[in-house]
Amino acid sequence: MARCRICRQKASIFIPHHRLPLCDEHFVSWFENYLRRTIQKFRMFSREARILVAVSGGKDSLVLWKALVKLGYAADGVFIDLGIEDFSFLSRRVVEDFAATLGRKLYVVSLQKELGFGIPALKRRTKKYCSLCGSIKRYFLNWATRKFHYEVLLTGHNLDDEASALLGNVINWSIKYLGRKYPVLPAHSGFPQKAKPLCRFTSFEIQEYAKRQKIKYIKESCPLSSEAKRLVFAEMMDQLEEQMPGTKLRFYLDYLRRAFPIFQEKVEDFLDHKLVTCARCGEPAISSPCFICRLKEEYQGA
Ligand SMILES: [Zn+2]
Ligand SMILES: [Zn+2]
Repeated sequence: MARCRICRQKASIFIPHHRLPLCDEHFVSWFENYLRRTIQKFRMFSREARILVAVSGGKDSLVLWKALVKLGYAADGVFIDLGIEDFSFLSRRVVEDFAATLGRKLYVVSLQKELGFGIPALKRRTKKYCSLCGSIKRYFLNWATRKFHYEVLLTGHNLDDEASALLGNVINWSIKYLGRKYPVLPAHSGFPQKAKPLCRFTSFEIQEYAKRQKIKYIKESCPLSSEAKRLVFAEMMDQLEEQMPGTKLRFYLDYLRRAFPIFQEKVEDFLDHKLVTCARCGEPAISSPCFICRLKEEYQGA
């Protein structure tokens, strides 16, 4: 193994995207500096902003939370308890322990409590439970950000997630998504400002940071999910990366720099629905009552 670029001691990791050999200590400081620079480059939020990190118990969101706190940001966490037997129970415990060691506040939003039922009950009634679960999570993350008075909502999406989602959007020419695919989105029509500070980090780099910071996280993915389609694009992206190293980062960053502005300009033309405010819950929605308020009603009637 080569020597660390900073201290010339034996390196413990080589980061291909940046052609950088680093020792443990300097990898951790590189990671945190690069995160700080990403936040600044995309003007995601200021030092003083009240930020809320959506944490699932997986490596990405916990790494993001820890690194932000180490950098001095006032970041708290929010966890959505989906009510999936062992999985949600274990994830919740991991996240609660993590918040306690960080010394930061954690909000737990339980679907059982807020909606009257969890995802398993939804699965018994509809085949579309997986995409519906995604929408439900987004609803309650927006809702929690406003309810608890935070300015910015952060998620742990990494470069692999963003590049493969972008590939999927391009293959399907989903222009309305392409016009909004940016690592920071300003607050609009009742939605809070959102940012993805890990968008320039690979899954590998995040995993290596977690290892060196001894972060305990949930390795299993959701037992109810069938992510087959998303995996196809992720595997295609990995193959491209293997054949042509550097493709992933270039594909994503060149999109942000050169293609996004073109799609963004026209994004309004491609929206299927105009947003309204749900008369019952006050959240932005495509119809009133919104899908959450209708789900609640259906459940009570069932
Ligand atoms: Zn070093
Ligand atoms: Zn509503």
